[in-house]
Amino acid sequence: MPVTSHVEEGERPEGPALPVNELFCSLQGEGILNGVPSVFIRTAGCNLRCWFCDSYHTSWEPTGAWDAVDAIVERVAEYDAEHVVLTGGEPLIHESAVHLLDELAARGYHTTVETNGTIHREASIDLASVSPKLSSSTPTPERPPAGGDEPVGDWPERHERDRIDIDALRALCRDYDTQLKFVVTGREDMAEIESLLARVREAVAVPDDRVLLMPEGTTRERLAETRGVVAELALEHGYRYTPRLHVDLWNDAPET
Ligand code: SF4
Repeated sequence: MPVTSHVEEGERPEGPALPVNELFCSLQGEGILNGVPSVFIRTAGCNLRCWFCDSYHTSWEPTGAWDAVDAIVERVAEYDAEHVVLTGGEPLIHESAVHLLDELAARGYHTTVETNGTIHREASIDLASVSPKLSSSTPTPERPPAGGDEPVGDWPERHERDRIDIDALRALCRDYDTQLKFVVTGREDMAEIESLLARVREAVAVPDDRVLLMPEGTTRERLAETRGVVAELALEHGYRYTPRLHVDLWNDAPET
């Protein structure tokens, strides 16, 4: 699979290292662990470009400073939290993500990886939080990146080509405790979700309570428009609704 990060090299330390966009402690805002105090390590770089990306500075305009894995682990230890969330961007584009996850697990942390599901790696992952990207995520000239001014360039074609890797998706569901978290923009997304789920379930069982519908929106105002219908869809289909607790609490503030 094509894997690109486009992060400026800058000062890269020797040995395993990752480009870190931000590292902070907050409440997990999404999924089955929402509300759990967690340290978030947000890496820069992504192989996709969703128009609604809620971490614009890791994808459309990737920004981060390289940090050695050992130094990242030390920064995590400064907080009093048992859960660590490795997110991005797409953290699994970086080989050193494996080293970091293994080091965190060796120190007893519960690790969650937030991934778009296009890359599988063998690592110490306690919860794979997989968010497959639907066709409604694809940017177009009429649907440019929200909150930024980057031109879409050739990303409509690249995103559409790469947004689903069924083998990687099935392998993640097979190898890890997994939640499938779909960003839902409206009722019209459901047919694609059902179709994708059927393809995954040809190879691996995914219980309905591990299928999560999450309203699209990175501000309280936008969530107020989308959450009602997504809650209805979760009830109708027997899937789980997940809030975006961090948006409810802190709107679109950074480091939340
Ligand atoms: S996959 Fe995630 S990080 Fe990458 S562009 Fe989409 S929302 Fe942003």
